[in-house]
Amino acid sequence: MLEPMNPDHLLEVRDLWVEYATPTGPVPAVAGVDLTLAPGEFLGVVGESGCGKSTMLFGIAQLLNPPASVTAGEVWFKGENLVALTAKSLNALRWRDFSVVMQSAMNALNPVHTIGRQFKDAIKAHAKRSDTEIRVRSAEVLELVGIDPVHLKSYPHQLSGGMRQRAMIAMALLFTPDLIVMDEPTSALDVVAQRSLMMQIKELQRQLGFAVIFVTHDMSLVSHFSDRLMVMYAGQVVELGATRGVFDAPAHPYSKGLLEAFPSIHGEKKRLTGIPGAPPNLGKPPSGCRFHPRCPVAMERCASDEPGLYRVGTAQARCLLHEPAALSVEVES
Ligand code: SF4
Repeated sequence: MLEPMNPDHLLEVRDLWVEYATPTGPVPAVAGVDLTLAPGEFLGVVGESGCGKSTMLFGIAQLLNPPASVTAGEVWFKGENLVALTAKSLNALRWRDFSVVMQSAMNALNPVHTIGRQFKDAIKAHAKRSDTEIRVRSAEVLELVGIDPVHLKSYPHQLSGGMRQRAMIAMALLFTPDLIVMDEPTSALDVVAQRSLMMQIKELQRQLGFAVIFVTHDMSLVSHFSDRLMVMYAGQVVELGATRGVFDAPAHPYSKGLLEAFPSIHGEKKRLTGIPGAPPNLGKPPSGCRFHPRCPVAMERCASDEPGLYRVGTAQARCLLHEPAALSVEVES
C-alpha cells in the first residue's frame, strides 16, 4: 500500500528511477531520486550535462518519451501519484496545476503561430473561456513578464531570445499553477539577460507564490535565487541542502568542484579550476562511489563501498567522508 503524502509538501518524489531502453539493455539515467518540495519553495537542481537532471525533471512532469520511461518510484503532487495517472488525468493537471518551461523557447514555441494564438490554444485545451477572457488573460500574463501585450500579435522569430523565454514563462503562468518546472530556461541567453530573467522569475514567484524546480548546469547563477540546492551526479542526488549552506560549505567533493568551475557574480576573483574528466557512462557506472574516478580526495574504499545519502548538519551528502561510522572513528582517534 502506498504511503499518502505529507500534507505540508506540494511534491514528494520517492525512489524515482528513469531508464532508457537501449539495444544493449536498460540505462538508468535517474537512479533512485528522493525529494520533497514545500509550497512556494525554489529548488535549484545542478550538475553537469549527462547527470540526469533534465531526465529527472521530465520524469517528474511525466513528459518522457520512449526510449525513456519511469521504471520505478512515485511522484506525489497535491495528493496524487502522477506516475499512476492516466494521460487524461495528467492532462487535466498540466498547465493548470503545474507547468513546464523548456530549455529553448524557439523549439517549444510554434514558429508559424503568433504568441497570442499559442496562448489561446493552451487555454482552450484546458478550460472553457470566452475569446474576451482569453485575450484579457493573455495580455495580463505577458505584462507580468514585462512584455507589451502588443506582442500577442508577434511571431516567435520577431522576439529576442530573452523575450521568447519570458513569453514561455508567461504561457506557463496562464492558469497560475502551484508548481513550475524549468529546464535550463536561461542557457541560451547572455549573462546580462540570464540574470534579468532570473530576477523576474524570482519576483513573479514572490508575487504569485508558485514553487519552482529549476534545472541548470550553472550552480553560481541559481544559487542567488534558490532556497535549496540539489546536486546530481551520475543519476543520483549527491548533495541536498539549503542553498547558502551548500554554497558556503559544500559537503560533497563534486559540489565543491562545480562551485570552482563557475565564476561568481559576487566575491573575490579566483582561478576557475573545474573538475577533470567527464561524468560516467550511466550504462556502466563506476563501482563504489560513482564519483571516485574524478574525486580529488578519494580513498581506497571509495572504489568498492557505495555511499548512502548521509546527514551533514541540516543537509545531506552522498560521500563516505560523512558516513556516521567514519565520523565516529575520526572522533574516537
Ligand atoms: Fe570522493 Fe570517496 Fe566521497 Fe566519493 S565517497 S565523493 S570518492 S571521498
